[in-house]
Amino acid sequence: MSLRVYNSLTQKKETFAPLKKGKVSMYVCGITAYDSCHLGHARAAVAFDVVYRYLKFLGNEVTYVRNFTDIDDKIINRSKEKNIPWKELTERYIQEYRDDMSALQILTPTQEPRATEFIPQMIGAIQTLIEKKKAYEKNGNVYYAVREFKKYGALSQKNIEDLESGARIEIDETKKDPLDFALWKAAKPGEPTWPSPWGEKGGRPGWHIECSVMSTKLLGQPFDIHGGGRDLIFPHHENEIAQAEGMSQKNFCNYFLHNGFVNIDAEKMSKSKGNFTTIRQVIKQHDAEVVRYFLMSAHYSSPIDYTEKNMLEAKLALDRYYLLLGRLNLLLADQKIKKMPKPSNDLEKELAKSLEEFPSKFKESMDDDFNVPKSLGYVFEIVRIFNKYLDQTGTTPAPFLFWARDEWMKMQKEIFEPALGIFISEPQKYFERFKKNKSEAQSVSVELVESKIAERRQARSNKDFKKSDTIRDELMKLGVELKDRPDGTTEWHFK
Ligand SMILES: [Zn+2]
Repeated sequence: MSLRVYNSLTQKKETFAPLKKGKVSMYVCGITAYDSCHLGHARAAVAFDVVYRYLKFLGNEVTYVRNFTDIDDKIINRSKEKNIPWKELTERYIQEYRDDMSALQILTPTQEPRATEFIPQMIGAIQTLIEKKKAYEKNGNVYYAVREFKKYGALSQKNIEDLESGARIEIDETKKDPLDFALWKAAKPGEPTWPSPWGEKGGRPGWHIECSVMSTKLLGQPFDIHGGGRDLIFPHHENEIAQAEGMSQKNFCNYFLHNGFVNIDAEKMSKSKGNFTTIRQVIKQHDAEVVRYFLMSAHYSSPIDYTEKNMLEAKLALDRYYLLLGRLNLLLADQKIKKMPKPSNDLEKELAKSLEEFPSKFKESMDDDFNVPKSLGYVFEIVRIFNKYLDQTGTTPAPFLFWARDEWMKMQKEIFEPALGIFISEPQKYFERFKKNKSEAQSVSVELVESKIAERRQARSNKDFKKSDTIRDELMKLGVELKDRPDGTTEWHFK
């Protein structure tokens, strides 16, 4: 089976065929660097990180471009408000975004162009649009003449007459038509400006032209995949198409992919609604791997609800995964079994079968428009069988278990890590992260707990059970629960 993707251009799931076999070009709209990014930005980044990873996993050479908008009304306004030079402001938030991305295990795109690096190319593109009668200049501004582009509204499935009647009529309107949008904005006092052919004072580019120019200059026209959040379909992506196709009569791109919103209690997350949650706040509260897992737990194109319950479920899923790895590590030394020992009972047969089938099931679900939740379902089915098997194993593992563990670890290295970017922690380190967070919150140091446990172990080996129980009770009062394992070790966690 080959990869199929839902293409917003045709509103259909289609077989993905790149322009050049084995090579994929992909552009995703990046952020406007004027503030801390929120969970909605993380959703888009994770969604297209998985697309990028999976395309590479399939053996493609992927050129992935994600831009930074580093000049925009929002940036200018914020820099005035905060009295920080606009360049310093954008630099700060670009760096912050990069830190957020690396915490979330998001691979760095092949290229990360900034709008201000492409001003001459944007001016050239706008000149072409004027020559082709798709744009006009007025008082140093240049506007795109939307009615000159016949396909306008096709992506967002909007009728131009409906758009016209709903368009906001602005005061001091210099546009010929309310639907027209700015390609170039004439300089205003105190704003950053670049020289332009449209008036001595110069000006700066509009937002939409940036993406059309950076994508086609770096990837060619057409290119394969354009991605972004669903909220960008109209007007941003509609305008990108109008600009790029208005310039050259060639298709802009062959596939448009859109990720769904993040809702808080089923309401779209946005700053204006006040339910704004920054990536760093959420990571601090929940752990970056849990946040990434949560963002992958729904299909990329569906909405996802950010609730305490869903975050807890994401954590419990990762706990389950790492608990299994912890159990396997505890029981099995580094012994390797190359050939599969013949399964000797039904559970071994079931486990052998699901392990053998996993790679093809994984590929099948991912080939179906990157269905991560379905592939995670297969992962946890195996976790379930493993645990059932371990529950019956006792302390003397059969050679089969060594083989099964090694197979599973191989899949972690060869499938989960490269294609999904999750399950990448050492189990012990994963749990330590939460102990550390909790111990900070409860003001109990991990070292204290560990030393008390060592003391208790000593007491137990001296058959001083009274002392052992006292230590257990002391720790209980500090919110620490102990669990003694049959092999004599003690696990612990914060309640
Ligand atoms: Zn864009």
